[in-house]
Amino acid sequence: MNIALVTGANKGIGRAVAEQLAALGMTVLIGARDPHRGEQAAAALRERGADAHALVLDVTDQASALAAAAWIEERHGRLDVLVNNAGITGSGQVSPQDATDQIPSSVDLDMVRAVFETNVLGVIAVTNAVLPLLRRSPAARIVNVSSHAASLTLTSAPDGPFAALLPSAAYTPSKAALSALTVQYANELRKDGILVNAAAPGFVDTDSNNHTGFLTPAQGAAVVVCLATLGADGPTAGFFSADGPVAW
Ligand code: NDP
Repeated sequence: MNIALVTGANKGIGRAVAEQLAALGMTVLIGARDPHRGEQAAAALRERGADAHALVLDVTDQASALAAAAWIEERHGRLDVLVNNAGITGSGQVSPQDATDQIPSSVDLDMVRAVFETNVLGVIAVTNAVLPLLRRSPAARIVNVSSHAASLTLTSAPDGPFAALLPSAAYTPSKAALSALTVQYANELRKDGILVNAAAPGFVDTDSNNHTGFLTPAQGAAVVVCLATLGADGPTAGFFSADGPVAW
């Protein structure tokens, strides 16, 4: 039985990822910073037959990440899949592409710090906390939930669709940093057989964009689940959407 931890799994894409991993027979640990919301999500998945358990995990709190890792070690002794999904836009429920408060020339530095704290440093904190447990898995996989907005190729194309969106000094650079981190972890962990990839779920209907996305959470989750279940000959240090590789 594979054990999977999904951060920010109490709702949105993370919850759909947890549901799909559970449907594949995995034990899923529902990382949630709010114990009540985490337990509600886990209970709802259990009602649908999943082996799901809530795990309190605030990715911005290193002590919380270490406590979560200790809990997993005690219960399961190892971890097979880590999905770093928890993320914030920094602008509440306003999609980054509509967020006037992220425009570089006038952005608030505290907002940029908060976004990087969750979307980048949080990934390092959680990954490092559970890495000893992933190393005990015969085939560990790490998936970082990124965004097409992380693609410097797409966002720098003057005539491409991203040129028409509002520029962002917080969310978009945080996801680009997540891309860089993905490659660095992949390079370090290649020798251990741990595959590390980034996923772009597409524009998904969730709270993070006030439900303006056009894909369902299940559709957005599919590429994440695919990368979480790669075979030993699968890619590492890659960036993928449902349509295939995304240019860095
Ligand atoms: P939601 O806002 O629906 O879910 C975000 C999840 O992250 C929630 O569970 C939230 O918890 C959790 N979270 C936020 N901060 C923390 C924290 N400090 N510790 C633990 N959990 C935290 O957003 P989405 O499902 O849309 O987003 C999931 C991921 O997908 C994000 O990384 C996002 O950037 C990415 N993404 C989303 C896209 C989209 O179109 N929706 C497009 C591209 C990427 P809580 O309920 O407590 O707030």
